[in-house]
Amino acid sequence: MKVVLQNLTKKFPNRNKKIKTDVIAVDNFDFTIPDGELIGLLGPSGCGKSTTLNLISGLLKPTSGKIIFGDDDVTGLPPENRGVGLVFQNYALYPHLTVRQNIIFPLENLRGKDRMTKDEMNAKALEIARLVQIDGLMDRKPSELSGGQQQRVAIARALVKMPKVLLLDEPLSNLDARLRLQTREEIKRIQRETGITTVFVTHDQDEAMSISDRIVVMKDGVLQQIGKPQEVYDEPVNQFVAQFLGTPPISIYEGSVKNGGLYIGDERVLTVSAPDGDVNVGIRPEGYILDENGPFTCRLHNVEVMGRDISIVSSHEKSQTPINRSIISAENRVDLSSGTVKFSLKPAKTYLFDKKTGARIPFEVK
Ligand code: ADP
Ligand code: MG
Repeated sequence: MKVVLQNLTKKFPNRNKKIKTDVIAVDNFDFTIPDGELIGLLGPSGCGKSTTLNLISGLLKPTSGKIIFGDDDVTGLPPENRGVGLVFQNYALYPHLTVRQNIIFPLENLRGKDRMTKDEMNAKALEIARLVQIDGLMDRKPSELSGGQQQRVAIARALVKMPKVLLLDEPLSNLDARLRLQTREEIKRIQRETGITTVFVTHDQDEAMSISDRIVVMKDGVLQQIGKPQEVYDEPVNQFVAQFLGTPPISIYEGSVKNGGLYIGDERVLTVSAPDGDVNVGIRPEGYILDENGPFTCRLHNVEVMGRDISIVSSHEKSQTPINRSIISAENRVDLSSGTVKFSLKPAKTYLFDKKTGARIPFEVK
């Protein structure tokens, strides 16, 4: 089922009563989620992710704008008539019911032509339990399950009515690191097998990048960029998006363009064609080339061995962060005793940003 958000806006009265202006949690969202895709809604805490999800589910009414499922305008429909499955961070299972009873629960309220017999319900619950791989736990109570298992039950319960759209709000946040990795792979598999259009909310860029067909990056209720994870990583529209994606993070230096060169401090680090002026320079960790004759000199702090790669920890007086990491192949040798390290830069991994607005400034390499 295709989902379209049309000029969708949600304002709340400020929680701080002294502030009279509304909070714009979602500011004029306009995008389409193609049928069968998994979309990652990504942004820092408070940027409006849950609000967006709750507008799609119908738990919240928009201040203005429309929500369309397929060809139907569902803006006025209550959640129970939208055909959505919801999963939240806290699993919200019924503690006194078994796994089977928890999964069956949404089916018991079906009426009319959708009404199911007890046998049909049990068969359906088992089918979904198999899909999320908890069919061996059907008679347990939630308290007898691990966090990962509880979250699978919650996912099964959201799927049992075969929703048109599956909505997941930070579903992995309560799990430990290993389970998070495992469960996110599971969610991806389940989504692929069912083909249900899915919106996955997270503040974790790594999580969003790894499982989404497309990511939507948000900040302060405003959509920043939408695209395939690799596209958004390679071609960020602004400094916020560039800094939000990637581990280790992009490094940012104060620089300037003059006389056809990009300067950081006194060093001309690239030959570029761009308007003269002060800029912020972003360099991805994989954008540094170890080069003893390179134009860019940094203070060398440490070399971290990571197996296939090494991470060079360096600093620079024009850097906006105390240290930066560059990732290079472990075949390289770095002499720690010298105290400095020289790089040349990959133009495709170097970005210029407007110092005031943060917008990306395109440049040509000469
Ligand atoms: P996220 O899920 O990205 O952390 P939310 O969608 O929960 O963000 O919140 C977005 C903004 O809207 C925040 O500034 C939050 O304080 C505000 N907000 C959310 N719900 C309400 C509400 N019911 N009343 C007032 N403000 C709210
Ligand atoms: Mg939230």
